[in-house]
Amino acid sequence: MLAEHDKLAREAAGRDEPYDSYLLRLTELEIATRTANAIAARIRAAGFPGLKEFDTFDFTALPNVPKQKLLELTRRDWIGQHYNACFIGGSGTGKTHAAIACGLALCRLGLRVKFTTAAGLVTELEAAQQQHRLDRTLAHLERIDLLIVDELGYLSFSRAGAELLFQVFADRYERRSLLITSNLPFGEWGQIFQGERMTAALLDRLTHRCHIFEMNGESYRFRESMKAQAEKATKTLKPRKS
Ligand code: ADP
Ligand code: MG
Repeated sequence: MLAEHDKLAREAAGRDEPYDSYLLRLTELEIATRTANAIAARIRAAGFPGLKEFDTFDFTALPNVPKQKLLELTRRDWIGQHYNACFIGGSGTGKTHAAIACGLALCRLGLRVKFTTAAGLVTELEAAQQQHRLDRTLAHLERIDLLIVDELGYLSFSRAGAELLFQVFADRYERRSLLITSNLPFGEWGQIFQGERMTAALLDRLTHRCHIFEMNGESYRFRESMKAQAEKATKTLKPRKS
């Protein structure tokens, strides 16, 4: 209001606008700016590794993924119902891209989102435990509406690390949503959590109310680089004009 009142007042005077409509416009501008600032702050706080949207997502690369069902994750309903989501598939199939796109959409709807990798989360929890502030870290995580845990399965954890991760997942069960991406099918999660019992208990909670997407296309990265190479090859093969 401080920044805009002068300019708007001059415009209003020029148009012979009544005071109440000037005040309304000034207030609307203030509210719009505050809303935009709040969204930007939520997106910053989420810690996305980059900003990816569904409008740049090529659904034809994943013919087995139901597009509408995936896009429904950009709405708040499943978060309200404390559902989880899992994206399972090989490297380069768009799991991280889709997870960020969902997270961004939910930030814009006013929800608190946090993006982390599984390894990053375990490191954070272990550090908190060592510094005797695990309770505070867990309390902070509880306030997050959607916790995105990317890349579960690339690294396995120590027993203690796996237990901490298990605690976070179990705490959220039926209370808060999780979005997990993994390169491993559920049957192989025993490798990550060391021990079939813990894995079974975790999978039971995670998948009880869960939207599961199997993203088993060809690697998008690989496809793009092959395409680029093929283009380069056809260019060099073209006969030169003399
Ligand atoms: P993953 O997390 O499954 O290993 P990423 O989401 O990181 O894969 O995707 C790798 C790269 O390819 C990223 O730059 C991503 O934006 C792009 N990408 C992957 N799948 C798609 C897709 N279906 N449409 C558009 N870009 C995609
Ligand atoms: Mg990824």
